[in-house]
Amino acid sequence: MHQFLRHHGIGGIGIIRMSGKDCFSILEKIFEPKKKQKIEDIKGYTIKYGNIIEKGEKVDEVLVSYFKAPKSYTTENMCEINSHGGNVMVKRILEICLKNGAELAEPGEFTKRAFLNGRIDLLQAESVIDLIHAKSEREAKTGMKQLEGILSKKIGEIKQDILDVMVDIEVAIDYPEYDVDDVTNQQIVDMLAKAEEKLLKLEKSFDNGKIIKEGIKTAIIGKPNAGKSSLLNAILKEDRAIVTEYEGTTRDTIEEFVTIHGIPIKLIDTAGIRQAKDEVEKIGITKSREIAKEADLIIAIFDSTKPLSDEDVEILDLIRNKKSIIILNKIDLKSILTEKDRGLKEASNHIIKMSALNHIGLENLYQQIIELFQLNEINLDNEIVITNIRHKNLITKAIENVKKTKETVATKMPLDIVAISIKDILEDLANITGEVVSEDIINEIFAKFCLGK
Ligand code: GDP
Repeated sequence: MHQFLRHHGIGGIGIIRMSGKDCFSILEKIFEPKKKQKIEDIKGYTIKYGNIIEKGEKVDEVLVSYFKAPKSYTTENMCEINSHGGNVMVKRILEICLKNGAELAEPGEFTKRAFLNGRIDLLQAESVIDLIHAKSEREAKTGMKQLEGILSKKIGEIKQDILDVMVDIEVAIDYPEYDVDDVTNQQIVDMLAKAEEKLLKLEKSFDNGKIIKEGIKTAIIGKPNAGKSSLLNAILKEDRAIVTEYEGTTRDTIEEFVTIHGIPIKLIDTAGIRQAKDEVEKIGITKSREIAKEADLIIAIFDSTKPLSDEDVEILDLIRNKKSIIILNKIDLKSILTEKDRGLKEASNHIIKMSALNHIGLENLYQQIIELFQLNEINLDNEIVITNIRHKNLITKAIENVKKTKETVATKMPLDIVAISIKDILEDLANITGEVVSEDIINEIFAKFCLGK
């Protein structure tokens, strides 16, 4: 017997979810619908109005939704009690449920049940976490696609191709008197090439996936008065979809999430950029170096009305070999700096002229970012992207096993050895969708969920 229940946080209404074989019998003990009806007569997907009752006393007026197995989130009998919000009320109803035989749910318990009961695979379950934590529309969209099972389908396709050949191999092993060896060999070679190509494409998509999930971590560096805060303000003003502002991983930094042309960008805003001017002076080259190290993209901004100083040269050193964009700022004034100045071109392939104060050149900046990361919206919209490191690692492992298998074929190993190697690939793929996965991993995945999901 498993009744799992959970309530959501404070809000206008509080929701307590119960799932499990006996959830309706518990509900019958505590809920008095205005229009009495036997539980067998209540259809799934209906909502009933009534009161939660304890020892004859009315506790709250509620709406209860009924979901009947197997048509529910968990595939079990489920109900959701919509009570008046507020912690006291929700907690009281929760306690009444517990007293009547329900158990408290773990984080992610409902989604875990949906997975264990086979309604969704592990990939889909994991996408629920991504949806909940999505910081941008784009990320939510990717999560939603995964929930619909498009990645599962892709993995399934690759697996099916391999399985088709595996059948022939098994036949050749079991009936060596038939000479199918040659045919099978070519089949194996073709199948491996195809699987490798598809897997490599998925593996590569992780870079885009990471960007969708985490945003391009971008640092704006430059000497005091170069125009860092003007640039930051220009970007933030252009973009009305600022999602979050939170402490950065480097001390004294704030990270701000913005979406530019649908691409999430995480601006590492050194406290210095935003704070009073005297604070800015404290942000020296050491600090910039520290920030630059963790950035995916560095925007180095220079005051084009002044010649390059030693400090500027140090900044140029810092961005070499990193993805970077150089901004020659304040072009509305008399500029003396040009792309040809010492070290600029060597430090970055992307140099643009701007006036941060007047918002001139912003669009150019965005286009350069898109170019640098080879992102265009069509790409992100239509392709399957891997966003989860667990999936990425398993795909990498599968690719390694494909390579290993290719070797066993090339070195004319007996078919049964080849077969073992192919089974390793299949196992990696099955691990992704959760067909074969250890309990530890399952627990680890669902522990990341929030309560009530
Ligand atoms: P930070 O110290 O690098 O953050 O630089 P600020 O953004 O605070 O800019 C320093 C000064 O330069 C301020 O007075 C800005 O108004 C000015 N400034 C910034 N960008 C431009 C620009 O594109 N044109 C002009 N004329 N002034 C600018």
